[in-house]
Amino acid sequence: MKIAVLSGKGGTGKTFVSVNLAYIQEQVTYIDCDVEVPNGHLYLPMKEPAVQPVYLPVPSIEDSLCTGCRTCIDFCSFHALCWTGSRILHFEQNCHNCGGCSIVCPTKAISEKPYSIGNICTGSFEHVGVMSGSLNPGQMQGCAIIRKMIAQTRDLKNLVLDCPPGDSCHVVQSILEADLCILVTEPTSFGASDMRICIDLLKLYNKPFGIIINKSLDTRNQIKTFCRRHNVKILAEIPLQPELASLNASGQIAAKNPEYRRVFERIFKNAQALIHQQNQ
Ligand code: SF4
Ligand code: SF4
Repeated sequence: MKIAVLSGKGGTGKTFVSVNLAYIQEQVTYIDCDVEVPNGHLYLPMKEPAVQPVYLPVPSIEDSLCTGCRTCIDFCSFHALCWTGSRILHFEQNCHNCGGCSIVCPTKAISEKPYSIGNICTGSFEHVGVMSGSLNPGQMQGCAIIRKMIAQTRDLKNLVLDCPPGDSCHVVQSILEADLCILVTEPTSFGASDMRICIDLLKLYNKPFGIIINKSLDTRNQIKTFCRRHNVKILAEIPLQPELASLNASGQIAAKNPEYRRVFERIFKNAQALIHQQNQ
């Protein structure tokens, strides 16, 4: 099963849920899609990971062939090219790598060169395969890294995709091939508000999903009220406990403790049941 774990806001425990959900499975790969600030590797440290740089093609302009006609500038919708008065300048960070400028240039002055945007680390922690994408600071093309990781793991049966927080295009890219999405929230006004935004996104993409209430105080709260009113499945409540918080704060896998392992096994079972229900 391919499970995407997401959250409206940071700090709800999305990575904590993702790594533990991966740890209780066999033959599973955890993918850290939070490419701007990946931190799943702190829970699942890889020994000597293979590092694969990720490049995108950007224009390379041969000044001696350029006539200054500006056809490329007029073509580029992203304002990634400008004329200085004597030559064309290219702004890599604005470029969407469409290749159009090199096609429209009448003198063939534009070719393509690779531009580094980040890397992908691949390895394992105990029995869990681990893949972690990392975007270079200041870059905006994180979707390309996420796409590459998903393409490289497409044939694997069991994935846990740890999505970035929020509802950005990085999140959309991360959930596209998931069989089920798990939305991790916390019982606060902020958690409830951001959860609603993510639910709208999941409905837009027609993704089956369930909720995990993390740091639950086992009292009535607005998350439970919302889920009851809108017929949203709560897969589990993870209690607010000092021991869990301490394990999490030190980057340890809670599911190594049999009591907590049972919590994540139950979540996994509930997730399987939800998928089964959806497919009927
Ligand atoms: S490759 Fe596309 S986005 Fe980049 S500069 Fe050329 S036209 Fe603009
Ligand atoms: S289209 Fe080609 S020739 Fe015209 S300004 Fe751009 S690089 Fe120069």
